[in-house]
Amino acid sequence: MPELPEVEILARHLRPLLHGRTIRAVEIRRPEVLEPTSAAHFKRRLRGAKFLSLRRRGKYLLFELRQRGSRVPFTLLGHLGMTGRMFLAPKQADRPKHAAVILQLGARDFIYDDPRYFGRLTLDTSPVKRLGPEPLEDSFTPELLARELKRSRQAIKVKLLDQSLVAGIGNIYASEALFRAGLSPRRASNRLTRAQVAKLWRAIREVLASAIECGSTIPLNFSVHASGGLFYYGSALGSEDSYNERLRVYDRHGQPCWRCRTPLKRIVQAARSTFFCPRCQKT
Ligand SMILES: [Zn+2]
Repeated sequence: MPELPEVEILARHLRPLLHGRTIRAVEIRRPEVLEPTSAAHFKRRLRGAKFLSLRRRGKYLLFELRQRGSRVPFTLLGHLGMTGRMFLAPKQADRPKHAAVILQLGARDFIYDDPRYFGRLTLDTSPVKRLGPEPLEDSFTPELLARELKRSRQAIKVKLLDQSLVAGIGNIYASEALFRAGLSPRRASNRLTRAQVAKLWRAIREVLASAIECGSTIPLNFSVHASGGLFYYGSALGSEDSYNERLRVYDRHGQPCWRCRTPLKRIVQAARSTFFCPRCQKT
C-alpha cells in the first residue's frame, strides 16, 4: 500500500502534467470509488473544470480545480487505497481493465485504475480534516510527538499507524522508523523516554525523506503491477526490487539484520505484520 513517500512522488510526477489542463469529458466505470459523491454530481462538477494545482496531504492527493466562469476553486480528493494507480495515457491507448474513472483532457487522458476499488476519487474532502501533522513539516516537533504518545498505552508500532498522530505513515515506514530508532515495536507508547521519542522523531523524518529521495530516481513504469510491492506503479529498469534493497527490515524476516546479523523477526500487531530485529530493538 502506498504511503507518504510513494504518494509524494506521484504528486510531483502528475503536477506538471495536469497543470492548466481542462477536463473535456468524464467517464465513470466504477461509481463506488466516488462515494459519497454521486456520479451525476461528480460529472457536473468536473466537466469543463481546469486543473490549477496538486498537493499531497498524508496519503491523499488533493487536486485543486476551477470551473469555467467561476472564481472559486474546489478540491478533488484522490486516495490509492491498496492497489490504485493514477496516470496519464495517450487518448488512443488501450484502457486498463480496471479503469474506474477516466478524465479526458484532450490529447491525453487521466486514468484512475484500481483492481480492488479500495481507493477513492471524490469531492468529499472530510478525511483530510482528521489528519495529524505532516511529518516533514515544521509543525511536527519532538515535543508534540512526546505529548501525544504520553496519552496512549498502545504499542508504539500500532500507534504510528494512527493518522491523527502523524499523517502518512503506514506499515512499511512504521517498521523502518522503529528499526532506525532502535525501539521495540511492542513498547507501550506512553513508556517511551524523552530521548527515545526524540530518536523516533528523527528516524521518522529520515526514513520518509530518504524514501522520497530514492523513489525520485526511479522512472515510473505503469505496466508494472506487482502485488505487495512498493512502487508498484514504477520500478527501475532491469531491477525489480532495487527499491526494496533500501528497506532494512520490512518484509525481510529470516534475513540477517543489516546491523548485527541476527535473523529479523515478523510478528502480527493489530492484524498487521511488523518486522524488526530482536537484538537491535530490545527496548
Ligand atoms: Zn540487529
